[in-house]
Amino acid sequence: MTNFKQQDPKLWQAIANEEQRQQDNIELIASENIVSPAVRAAQGSVLTNKYSEGYPGKRYYGGNQYIDVVEQLAIDRAKELFGAEAANVQPHSGSQANMAAYRALLHDGDIVLAMDLTDGGHLTHGADVNFSGQTYTFFHYGLDANGLLDYDAIARQAEEVQPKLIVAGASAYSRAIDFARFKQIADAVGALLMVDMAHIAGLVAAGVHQSPVPYADIVTTTTHKTLRGPRGGMILCKEKYIKQVNSALFPGIQGGPLEHVIAAKAVALGEALRPEFTTYAKQIIKNMQAMVRGLTADGSKLQVVSGGSDNHLALVNVTGYGVTGREVQDLIDGVMITTNKNQVPGEQNGPFRTSGVRLGTAAITTRGFDEADCYAVGQLIVQAIAHRNDDAAMKQVAGAVHALTQKHPIADIKY
Ligand code: PLP
Repeated sequence: MTNFKQQDPKLWQAIANEEQRQQDNIELIASENIVSPAVRAAQGSVLTNKYSEGYPGKRYYGGNQYIDVVEQLAIDRAKELFGAEAANVQPHSGSQANMAAYRALLHDGDIVLAMDLTDGGHLTHGADVNFSGQTYTFFHYGLDANGLLDYDAIARQAEEVQPKLIVAGASAYSRAIDFARFKQIADAVGALLMVDMAHIAGLVAAGVHQSPVPYADIVTTTTHKTLRGPRGGMILCKEKYIKQVNSALFPGIQGGPLEHVIAAKAVALGEALRPEFTTYAKQIIKNMQAMVRGLTADGSKLQVVSGGSDNHLALVNVTGYGVTGREVQDLIDGVMITTNKNQVPGEQNGPFRTSGVRLGTAAITTRGFDEADCYAVGQLIVQAIAHRNDDAAMKQVAGAVHALTQKHPIADIKY
């Protein structure tokens, strides 16, 4: 880093500041995590120098004998970890993985049934502003009045719209998803099933959430959320789809793979194969449930959508305090708690102001927070919102946040 600091002090300083911010803040963005030094080392390695268009054993450039070892390790570990028949580890992101999956299974204009963005789906699940909504004919299912997936209603909708593909998976759904049920729904109408497990991949890897792999034709994921790898995507599928998946991704929509990132994915997948990873994944869920108790205790006016959480996240309606999600995001940022505003089912405030925030426990679990810490974080959020105009109270909250981040330094994380 010394040379880097001398060569480009402005950039070096921005990175150093970000490192300090991560140390000082309680990170509750449900899609983030803190990767191991080994993941970072792989990603910062000389592999970034290499072009390797193609796949192991079939490259368009010379000198790929070691790159092939790296990528094959990542593929083999992905297959072992998830019990998948085949894997593609090259998607640059979760969105690229979804684009490749659609292009492998669909023609432009085909009918797809997926979860609505406002109820917890992702942009790539058919939003108008996204390639998915612009290329295919999407219909959307949402949540029922209790904030839960209503499988019977989804089955009826599938019967009505006759999709070629059903997409299960979400960005902001706090309950377990029944992939076996989705498979029945898809089979009943002759549809293919794709599962986007981006958020819960780490929980699936550890066996603390039902795996979609036995049920889905194609499973897509990101590698950087609960799975705790580098930013990127991955596709798992039945053997019969791998050829079309591979060619949909390269040469279909990507050029040279990011082999330094693929190496980092291999590291993370190796870490996820260890028993400690299961302990971490179980703790994520216990921590979220403790945080929900803290958020809703003692006459709190916060409402947790669906009433609780079975996974790493909770969606919290904050309007009981006369504030929007955007305002809460900003005001708890001021006491060093980082989160993101989020729409809630039946959203009245629109996507920029929103009625809710999404909270996740993956990053703080990696950091060593336990249930007592997470209960305290829930309470601190309530206090910050309830006493937002009281400087002394806000100072107290900031002090308590500081004590928690000091108690669990990032440098002490054991992977
Ligand atoms: N799918 C789901 C369910 C997601 O939550 C996300 C990201 O938040 C993605 C796909 C897209 O991932 P990326 O941001 O890497 O494109």
